[in-house]
Amino acid sequence: MNCSECGKEAIILQRYNGLHHCREHFLESVRKRVYSELRKQVHLRGGERIAVAYSGGKDSTLTLYLMNQIVKPMRDVSLAAIIVDEGIVGYRDVGLPVARDFCKGIGIELVETKMSDELGTTLDEIASMNRAQSTCTFCGVFRRKLMNAAARRMGADYLATGLNLDDTAQGIVMNIFRGDIEKLARMGPHDAVQEGLIPRLQPLRKIPEKESLLFCIEEGLKFHDAECPYAHEAVRNTYREMIAKVEEESPGARYSILAGYDSIREALRKSYPPAELNVCACGEPCMGERCKACELLVEVRALKGA
Ligand code: SF4
Repeated sequence: MNCSECGKEAIILQRYNGLHHCREHFLESVRKRVYSELRKQVHLRGGERIAVAYSGGKDSTLTLYLMNQIVKPMRDVSLAAIIVDEGIVGYRDVGLPVARDFCKGIGIELVETKMSDELGTTLDEIASMNRAQSTCTFCGVFRRKLMNAAARRMGADYLATGLNLDDTAQGIVMNIFRGDIEKLARMGPHDAVQEGLIPRLQPLRKIPEKESLLFCIEEGLKFHDAECPYAHEAVRNTYREMIAKVEEESPGARYSILAGYDSIREALRKSYPPAELNVCACGEPCMGERCKACELLVEVRALKGA
């Protein structure tokens, strides 16, 4: 098949819009969507510091790479990456050198934060415990805490994540299925600034996962291409499979989910305005008296002592 724009040999068919793209037009189509999405999410005036929640995987690598290209020509806007070492032997220790090399290669500061230092435990230790919740539940809550704390320490104004279109559609559907409309209303990207909580940017929210992967391959970006040993425990796997099936049968379904969500977002936010936040004893913002991470840590300590 040939490129719908220039007639050169195509490397991809975007089934959701019926377009074929050659390498150049594919890369351009991803860049355009990311740049335009970022412009909608934030107006950079100069003087901002942006942190990228980086893992070394394809999505966060693409986020960091494109954010660097966007920010580089801007005066006074600085960029740094944050990586969390959860303590997953055979996975994170293999990915860390790849992440360090990538950041060094593009001249970006990499801030590393370790769960064992910050929380006194590791994901491997938690996974070995007899607990009710999945390892990913602990990981997600702890990672968010460490990312937010590291971003705040470095004085970041924004924290950009690598959430792609598939992740976003899964998150929307998951919150609807759970009836958690408050969480649905509070999904990023964030335009309200709340004390202690670094607002999230999501520049890849219109990029399908497969296109994120293809961009990295075609552009020769080095990323850590491995699956976490606990990935099978993730609750969102059910939603991943469900949405992949719907997309297969009705191309464009993921974009429709996102567009539907965006059209009701303002109304949802009026019903659920930003909550009054307290400060947990650990220093993180929280809705009650204690943040979710500290609640889970109580469980972890109890299990350790058991
Ligand atoms: Fe953490 Fe689960 Fe992702 Fe592994 S798959 S990094 S445990 S959230």
